Amino acid sequence: MNKQEIENIKQKALEEHIPIIMDDTLDVIAKYLKEIEPKRILEIGTAVGYSAICFSEFLEHNGRIDTIERDNERVNEAKENIKKAGRENVIKLLEGDAMEIMPTLERDQFDFVFMDAAKAQYIHFLPEVLRLMKKDGVLITDNVLQEGDLIQSKYVVRRRDRTIHKRMREYLEVVKNHPQLETSIVPIGDGITMSVKK
Ligand code: SAM
Repeated sequence: MNKQEIENIKQKALEEHIPIIMDDTLDVIAKYLKEIEPKRILEIGTAVGYSAICFSEFLEHNGRIDTIERDNERVNEAKENIKKAGRENVIKLLEGDAMEIMPTLERDQFDFVFMDAAKAQYIHFLPEVLRLMKKDGVLITDNVLQEGDLIQSKYVVRRRDRTIHKRMREYLEVVKNHPQLETSIVPIGDGITMSVKK
């Protein structure tokens, strides 16, 4: 698939207000993936397949991405996009809720995990994600700084955002102090965490 076609998928997603990875976050992850050439990637939150298609370029020969999406409409659009991109043989779309799908996957297999789904669930996904990651595997979690809002006092942010901020603070606390992880918080895009499994 050429660059223009990938750009078309991105533009359509943006027009439809589907939240997809930000350009600067993608740049950083792409550089990293290019360096490590992962064999197995897990993505939680496919949306329409944009990030999975972008990541698939950096897989090792014979590598594969498993990507999980629970929304039927998005699953259908992602399938079309993956087909258009000619990546059906390397991107496996797993349909359903990540909390139900992850326990069915084999342990210690992923070199790289991109967690980009319902923010409040990150903390619940973590034990399964850790089970699925290889030693020295890397977990990147997107949107952890909530467009910078998380740095603000809780009294400044809107009430409806407070719960999600509280959950994200809890997640950051857990991920930073987890005995199996070495974590950095990187202020690019909406903020990511980058954790290596010890
Ligand atoms: N990674 C995509 C990209 O950058 O192109 C964007 C993913 S979008 C931010 C988050 C997606 O996660 C949504 O499409 C949503 O339906 C899905 N999602 C949220 N919670 C989920 C869950 N528990 N299991 C599976 N998918 C989930």
